[in-house]
Amino acid sequence: MLITHDTRCALDAVVDLVNTAPDSDGGAAGAEGLADLPALAAFVEKHDISDVGVLAERDLAAVRAIRARFAQVFATADPHGAATVINDLVAAAGTTPRLTDHDGYDWHVHYFAPGASVADHLAADCGMALAFFLVAGEQERLRRCEAPDCRYAFVDLSRNRSRRYCDSRTCGNRLHVAAYRARRKEAAG
Ligand SMILES: [Zn+2]
Ligand SMILES: [Zn+2]
Repeated sequence: MLITHDTRCALDAVVDLVNTAPDSDGGAAGAEGLADLPALAAFVEKHDISDVGVLAERDLAAVRAIRARFAQVFATADPHGAATVINDLVAAAGTTPRLTDHDGYDWHVHYFAPGASVADHLAADCGMALAFFLVAGEQERLRRCEAPDCRYAFVDLSRNRSRRYCDSRTCGNRLHVAAYRARRKEAAG
């Protein structure tokens, strides 16, 4: 499937967003990653989410609310369940598809409405990015890390959909090293 620059950015943003959830909210192991407005501002800056105005407490609440919905998309293998969540998110955000070739990128479509809040911006563009995976029959690429103490969300963009860990250089390696040590111990004992 074709993944444009903006789709890639939206995927990075939604994965990062889902992974800010504390584990009590069904997120990965860890504390609340969007604890306050400065944390939200850092997220907005990191993902270059444009034109969202001055951030307020209601933005924080709204972003946490859509985060919980997005987490459901990564938690289910059922396309109907995922489709319902994505439809709700995108509809509530009020999208305005708009062709653009900003900043030297090829033609692509922005979905967020002009002046959209940060939550609506994310719901529209990340919702549509995930929608394309369902359309392409690729929902299984929307995964959670298999490391038992991690469970981070990630998008498997590998050719043969074989990725099992959120970041093979940390989680994958960590498990490989643990398995290697266990084997050595067995051999030595
Ligand atoms: Zn763009
Ligand atoms: Zn992981």
